[in-house]
Amino acid sequence: MDRTVHPDIAYVLLEHERIQQRVQALADEITRDYANTQDLLLVGVLKGSVMFMVDMARSLQRHVALDFIAISSYGQSTQTSGVVRLLKDLDTDIGGRHVLIVEDIVDSGLTLAYLRESFQRRNPASLRICALLSKPERRQADVTVDYTGFDIPNEFVVGYGLDFAERYRNLPYIGVLRPAVYTQNAES
Ligand code: 5GP
Repeated sequence: MDRTVHPDIAYVLLEHERIQQRVQALADEITRDYANTQDLLLVGVLKGSVMFMVDMARSLQRHVALDFIAISSYGQSTQTSGVVRLLKDLDTDIGGRHVLIVEDIVDSGLTLAYLRESFQRRNPASLRICALLSKPERRQADVTVDYTGFDIPNEFVVGYGLDFAERYRNLPYIGVLRPAVYTQNAES
């Protein structure tokens, strides 16, 4: 499909089809790894992981339960503060459950380090992390990501759930945002 690229996007990093293929491959791996486990709870981190979570859940060849948490993100900036605030907690008690956290992107790793620790305290039977994107160069926290979609360079990306100031989430591809967009925004 020939779609026009949004003018605020410098270039498309990952086409929609490429994302779909990778999500299916991850889902196949997860289906295999949890083959002997009756229970599997996917926990999506709102809002960035929504597209990934939905596509992942649909691609799994097994029963799966879904829950969501919401945490504070960058807001209008492109840099992490390192401070994570829980805006919406789980609806489910994860004690004794097999939990897989589904995240959009691991940057410094501080968010996932916080989540892993906070979830571990609730005594799940197992806890793993799946992230669509990772920027290995930027890692500050030593956090193990069990399933990674793509390693990407240190650029600010949007689309397929990822936003800047609540925009671009519905782009079907992942693209690098023109720096002028966030520079202008910071000045206004
Ligand atoms: P970390 O705590 O790993 O530094 O940051 C993770 C969170 O920062 C992600 O869940 C996401 O909300 C945000 N983030 C990090 N890098 C990017 C990026 O390139 N684009 C967007 N839109 N958000 C990002």
